[in-house]
Amino acid sequence: MRTRIKTFLHRFFKRMRLLRTWVKVALLFVLLIAMGGLLWHFVGPVQLPSAHTAIADSHNLPVASSTTETTDTLDTTKAEDSSSDTQSREDEKWLEHMTARELAEYNGEALYYENGVAYRTDTGERCPVMALTFDDGPSYLTVGLIEELNKRSAKATFFVLGVRVESYPEAIEAAAEGGHLLCSHGWDHKSSLTNLTEEQIDEQLGWTDSAVFEASGQHTLYVRPPYGMIDKKTAALVDYPMMLWNIDPRDWDVRNADKVHKGIVDNAFDGGVVICHDIYDTTVTGVLSAVDALQEQGYQFVTLEKYYEIFDISPQNGEVWRGKVQADI
Ligand SMILES: [Zn+2]
Repeated sequence: MRTRIKTFLHRFFKRMRLLRTWVKVALLFVLLIAMGGLLWHFVGPVQLPSAHTAIADSHNLPVASSTTETTDTLDTTKAEDSSSDTQSREDEKWLEHMTARELAEYNGEALYYENGVAYRTDTGERCPVMALTFDDGPSYLTVGLIEELNKRSAKATFFVLGVRVESYPEAIEAAAEGGHLLCSHGWDHKSSLTNLTEEQIDEQLGWTDSAVFEASGQHTLYVRPPYGMIDKKTAALVDYPMMLWNIDPRDWDVRNADKVHKGIVDNAFDGGVVICHDIYDTTVTGVLSAVDALQEQGYQFVTLEKYYEIFDISPQNGEVWRGKVQADI
């Protein structure tokens, strides 16, 4: 056995001696690469550059300058990363303690929002509030109107007719998705509530609520009595707060976008509730241009629900409101 090993070693060294020098160097190089791999494995990548340099040095091999540079760059990036991490954590902490107004100031924004309400960054004052309300829809125009309102971050309130909800369920869905408010104008507008029995009133409002709920998963919050007609006796039978208006551009009558625009813009005030009908294209055009003009003046457009929250009013069932004041009926 011993003899065999001896013979093997003897032959091995003899063959090694016969090998050309460059082959020996190549074998050594392979061995060193393998050692480098082991070092990488056990010591970790961060330690590698020095190990790599050490290996190169020990064999007088030039350390590829590009490798060194790459490594240096990587190391620097790592250092920058960790310092920017620390920086951003500090920024986050700082931002957390900033008020919405300070943050807007920091970002150079003219407005800031708290609980969905817009305030002026420079003065801290609440932006004047208007509520757009649309009756008698939805119609083929409603989805387009909602898309345009969404682009302007303007919210509206839709007093829909139940009978039309069934024809335009996508409009109800779009309104809900856009954060607009769905309310009831009764089922079919055939009669004012004052001419109906309690049972008929319940049907008009109940059916409409069901249709809206089916299309959007939301219940109708307020009621606008058809023709705005309501009296004390009837109001007492209605299980909803009822909403009238205080700005009427008479869009159904004028059928002219410029007149609708003027009717809204000329009468605008903080607390304005506009009545319109999303069944005329002149109305849609006029309302949108009025929104543009009034937003330019600093107005914000909110749903009636947000409106009452802003003015700290809680309308109760059976009550009739005309904007900020209870209606005299
Ligand atoms: Zn109506």
